[in-house]
Amino acid sequence: MELDKLKKEIMGSFPNVENSRVFFMKQSIFLEEKYRFVPENTHFAEGGCSDEINGPEYLLMEQYWGSRFKFGGLAGYPHGGRTGFEAVSHHVPEVFGRKNLLFVTGPHIGYHRGEWGKVSRTNQDELSNACGSLAAALESDFDENCEKAPDPLDRQQQIIEMIMFPYLKKCSDSGKTPKLLDATNFLMQKINEDVLTVVNNLSPRFQGQIALLTGITINTELGNFFSPSLVEIMGEPKLE
Ligand SMILES: [Zn+2]
Repeated sequence: MELDKLKKEIMGSFPNVENSRVFFMKQSIFLEEKYRFVPENTHFAEGGCSDEINGPEYLLMEQYWGSRFKFGGLAGYPHGGRTGFEAVSHHVPEVFGRKNLLFVTGPHIGYHRGEWGKVSRTNQDELSNACGSLAAALESDFDENCEKAPDPLDRQQQIIEMIMFPYLKKCSDSGKTPKLLDATNFLMQKINEDVLTVVNNLSPRFQGQIALLTGITINTELGNFFSPSLVEIMGEPKLE
């Protein structure tokens, strides 16, 4: 079957990849059955890229959990930062002394017939970039990025350029051409580090459970796949 063949191809680079819809539904049911997350006492927050191609699974999660706080932006980096995470932590409903936060974040990359970084979008003849923000950062002049004056009208993209600086410098020093697949994995690690710092800081003050799911979304003509990176549940539930 076409879908199995495609999954096998993607597994060459992401061995733990799953259909995105299936992954998020399984995780949601797992959180309900094992950790007693229910829509009544859980707030869902996502930090995905602004690109609407990632929308279907976030919408599915919003419908499952009944809420959706957005702390992401370009390239799937958690641009909302400490303030965004702090804010959502005050929006969580508490039922019988229990409350839970569910964070989902991570970058994304297109895959089209053997080519990483490209997607075919509805009613468009040409393939387009995914992630466009990350692709643009790879094409930027990383030496110049350090000297650039902050542009208040392009802050998110400048943050992605700054984050990618060590990767681009390493490529330049070793004479290698930057690759979107490698860059996506590099960005995933940076997102994990940053989101863990913020969530670990928030967790002791939250007095509830926090589930953190990070990973890379792979956009294809047969829908989205997801390669999980961090799946962590932290914080003790309050005793009833
Ligand atoms: Zn993107």
